[in-house]
Amino acid sequence: MLKVKPPDGYPPEEGRYVRGNDYSPVAVCVTLDTFDFAIPAELNELVMAGVDSGAALSGMLQTENIGLEKMVCNIAANPNIRYIVLCGRESAGHLPGESLLALKQNGVTETKQIIGTKAPTPHLYNIPLELIERFRNQIISVINLLCQPGERDTSVPGLNPKVLEKAVWSCYQEEPVLFMGYTLYDIGSYPEPAICHKIASKLSQPQQDILQPGKSKLDTGFMLLKFLPKTNCRKCGKRTCLAFAIELAKGKCRLEECPILDQPEFAADRQALAKLLK
Ligand code: SF4
Repeated sequence: MLKVKPPDGYPPEEGRYVRGNDYSPVAVCVTLDTFDFAIPAELNELVMAGVDSGAALSGMLQTENIGLEKMVCNIAANPNIRYIVLCGRESAGHLPGESLLALKQNGVTETKQIIGTKAPTPHLYNIPLELIERFRNQIISVINLLCQPGERDTSVPGLNPKVLEKAVWSCYQEEPVLFMGYTLYDIGSYPEPAICHKIASKLSQPQQDILQPGKSKLDTGFMLLKFLPKTNCRKCGKRTCLAFAIELAKGKCRLEECPILDQPEFAADRQALAKLLK
């Protein structure tokens, strides 16, 4: 059975995940339905159960845009990964689990909007269409154990580490096994080279003029929005990230008022915003 060594630089994107066996055919995706500073123990336990039972990557997915983009990058960089086990509780605000399922099933529009999800901002603006299609072709199935928002019973499949372990185990069997309606086994790596794509620093684009006087505050707000988390969580006191961006453009609020930008995964974006607003 064909297996390949992942390239240097794998996994290209940082995130809240653990790297396990590079030759495993499965990654585990636990949806995160809380803020980072209050991650419930049962979700951390699922991530660890995933990697301990043999997954290549096991981690959390919080958003239907940047979070998914990073997942696509990391999986396309390891052709051995052919399955994703989706578990945890759906996040009612972002619907990242539904977005992942819709991405696999329906793909995206020409403007990179995921087709068939009700998630608020399901746009994969920062990665190329070819990479998205590669991800969809490489992944044979997303094994859906996801629970409804608010589920607390940790014996249900999506929150039960034992069920997750069985799902992971099923994916790397040499002969097909039946697991909750899915026929699973390790069919070997995807027969195309790894694509080690890193989401480009948005500052590499020619945007030095975005705060020039000729630009409207709305135009400038849209440009600044590219670097904001786009969660619309309202922690800054604004209804949306765009509203915050426009206030930033007007000089009526400060970056420090968005606490989400303090999270490590947004460090580069924060730095870019600081530079642009200088
Ligand atoms: S700008 Fe406001 S709404 Fe957007 S992520 Fe930051 S705190 Fe949340």
